[in-house]
Amino acid sequence: MTAYADQPWLKHFTDEQREDVEHPPSVLHTFLDVAARIPDHRALFYFDGALSYRELDALSDGLARHLAARGFAPGDRLAIMLQNVPQFVVGLLAVWKAGGTVIPVNPMYKQGELAHILTDAGATAILCSERAWQGYVRATVVDSPVRIALTASEFDLQTRDDSRVLTGERPLAQAGEGADDVLTAARAAAGPRPGVPLPAASDIALISYTSGTSGKPKGALNTHGNISFNAHRQVRVQDLGEDAVIFALAPLFHITGVVCQVSAALAGGHTVALAYRFEPGVVLDAFREHRPTFTVGPATAFMALLAGPDATAADFASFRLIGSGGAPLPPAVVESFRVRSGGLYLANGYGLTECTAPCASVPPGVEAPVDPTSGTLAVGVPGPGTMVRILDDAGAEVPFGESGEIAVTGPMVVPGYWNLPEESAAALPGGELLTGDIGFMDEDGWLYVVDRKKDMINASGFKVWPREVEDVLYTHPAVREAAVVGVPDAYRGESVKAYVSLRPGATAGPEEIVAYCKDRLAAFKYPREVEVLGDLPKTATGKILRRELKVRAG
Ligand code: AMP
Repeated sequence: MTAYADQPWLKHFTDEQREDVEHPPSVLHTFLDVAARIPDHRALFYFDGALSYRELDALSDGLARHLAARGFAPGDRLAIMLQNVPQFVVGLLAVWKAGGTVIPVNPMYKQGELAHILTDAGATAILCSERAWQGYVRATVVDSPVRIALTASEFDLQTRDDSRVLTGERPLAQAGEGADDVLTAARAAAGPRPGVPLPAASDIALISYTSGTSGKPKGALNTHGNISFNAHRQVRVQDLGEDAVIFALAPLFHITGVVCQVSAALAGGHTVALAYRFEPGVVLDAFREHRPTFTVGPATAFMALLAGPDATAADFASFRLIGSGGAPLPPAVVESFRVRSGGLYLANGYGLTECTAPCASVPPGVEAPVDPTSGTLAVGVPGPGTMVRILDDAGAEVPFGESGEIAVTGPMVVPGYWNLPEESAAALPGGELLTGDIGFMDEDGWLYVVDRKKDMINASGFKVWPREVEDVLYTHPAVREAAVVGVPDAYRGESVKAYVSLRPGATAGPEEIVAYCKDRLAAFKYPREVEVLGDLPKTATGKILRRELKVRAG
């Protein structure tokens, strides 16, 4: 028996929590049970609007019927490109009821980014905002497999029209021209859900696109079993009770949003509160109105909430638990949050899209230790049923306390990437996920993340892969060489910086290059800073030394 196989982290759990609890194959199964048991209970809040479990069930039945009638068959893929609006949840459940797979897409994506995902995933349907449809989605789907288009208005299902986040005309011009409003379509097709078998644990619930070293985003295959395991584990461990309200601080297009907010809420019979997108004043008002019990988001979101002049401890008084994940959490933020929130402990958690949100978290009632040498706060301990090992470059386990690559096995780890057998085998040898994160584990099973083996940049929890930005820079006519690195940023943790050299005789200033990228990449990806050098540092074989530039920048 090796050290990690002894699973020292299990000592943090009760016998009951350690027991291997059976999980229903899908969150949809549990949702249907909850909807039958407490149909009038609120499933979601959206500003001053709400949907009961009965209403959410009926709308998603109708939408599933609409999709089936339009030829959407089991196994088909529908992309949802929306902010945190109720129609996201209706779409998610409807696709699962129709036997299909959802592809969450960040609504900040520009045309090229969306086009790649739709084509790569073979998406035959899309659900996006009316604004996006009229803006560029309609033109983008022309050369894609998409045949069914649905739109959603962020003004629907509420009357408050909070102009801090809901901007533009109300109502917008009718989507029309090839797209149906999703709620209208769902109501028009009202009736029992299509006679498709409920999803099995191994069926693909989501294809979650993450980028990678190759530059092109790749789709992680989150199964219904993956989601069910993490959602039910959260419900069991948190034990929030059915009156709990989960505030969706994280975006629903990210795995954390779907799993820890929507799926956990629906599996636990809780209510999920949505507020379109993160805007500190709007979020605080939602806290005051809906009195949430739990939320999870990146450290920067909590810093932003506390930075506002009007946040008081009373605004946080309803919370029983708060989680931070997706980006490093400095111990100083935990302490300032504790002071400002009236004593709440910000619990760290660690995960990846490829392990369907968390694989390590701080158990309720305990506080994570800080490593005295590095000052790093532990990200948590692996949960029951999860195996975490720390490996050296040769793939051998290193002793407790020594750093290496974090490797994860468990029921939440994806079986692979969509249509990429080689990348899947490399990232998941024998089903064990090589995370690309560097960390160590102490003898009590606490896991610490200290560095990254992968080139990824983490800006407020938004992940940017240098290669994707460099690919865009190389399309600029003046650019000869490009290298993108993450540089320390007091607020975001890291921000994106590009180094370029220019073609002989070409001229282009940093501002022009920034603007060029801004037109082609989502807002969180384009470089905030560009530095033009005569030549970029290279190895003897001509490979650009990104690491050297990172040191220079940092
Ligand atoms: P994503 O696939 O967007 O969920 O990003 C996963 C990556 O976020 C991980 O591989 C880590 O690099 C980073 N990450 C997630 N949680 C934490 C955490 N608590 N501390 C430090 N980095 C984290």
